[in-house]
Amino acid sequence: MSNAELPRTDELRVKRIPEKQVFDRDALNALLDEAIVGHVAVLRGDQPVVLPVGIGRDGDTLLIHGSTGSGIFREMADGRPLSVAVTLLDGLVYARSAFESSIHYRSAVIMGSAAVVEGDEKLEALAILTNHMMPGRWEEVRETTKKELAATMVLRVPLERVSVKVSDAGPDEFEDDGDDRSIWAGVLPLRIVAGEPYASEMTPEGTPVSPSVIAQTQRLS
Ligand SMILES: Cc1cc2nc3c(=O)[nH]c(=O)nc-3n(C[C@H](O)[C@H](O)[C@H](O)COP(=O)(O)OP(=O)(O)OC[C@H]3O[C@@H](n4cnc5c(N)ncnc54)[C@H](O)[C@@H]3O)c2cc1C
Repeated sequence: MSNAELPRTDELRVKRIPEKQVFDRDALNALLDEAIVGHVAVLRGDQPVVLPVGIGRDGDTLLIHGSTGSGIFREMADGRPLSVAVTLLDGLVYARSAFESSIHYRSAVIMGSAAVVEGDEKLEALAILTNHMMPGRWEEVRETTKKELAATMVLRVPLERVSVKVSDAGPDEFEDDGDDRSIWAGVLPLRIVAGEPYASEMTPEGTPVSPSVIAQTQRLS
């Protein structure tokens, strides 16, 4: 188990508005547990490439998975440096100037390199990833086949070199800032909301919606 404090190194130091940086590991965990998607960056030659991936958290490590045929996953598997950004968009900040207008967010930047997850751990990691995105689904679906397992690569990135930034303040305004107060300023909160689930073409009519789908729909209502 790592320290409850996130590191305060120069590499990870937020320079712009440093008071928005958060060093609480619980805040990192909560953010990673809520987010479904991250963006992973690697260097391909001199060219940085950023790709979106589904994420999961296993203790103090981040899990990602992809096809063994995926270019970026094969590259990450060789242990090269990578960075993952995970962002939750919480709102839009409407200030009285375009300059002061901004975004409410919680974001994490993770640096490091990945290790390939093999053996018994691989199935456990896939269960964590599945239940991270679709809580309870791993227990509902049929078992993963050997072929599917062989076609899937799971990578683990330690949550050691991590920074977290949280933007949650209202628009800057002061008694004597001279702004025209007839223009509304404030925050429009944003969040992910589930729509109505619909069955696939080959789901027999009358098949009840799975408990995991109902629970996720309610969670995101
Ligand atoms: C949804 C969203 C939209 C944003 N839009 C803009 C925008 O349009 N323009 C803009 O200038 N900025 C935007 N930001 C903020 C941006 O991510 C940087 O924080 C900002 O550019 C200032 O970087 P810096 O100079 O402090 O850090 P840098 O010197 O660039 O980075 C130093 C270190 O600080 C840490 N760090 C920096 N930013 C973050 C972060 N967001 N989360 C976690 N760790 C971080 C990293 O570890 C990084 O290595 C946005 C952030 C989010 C989440």
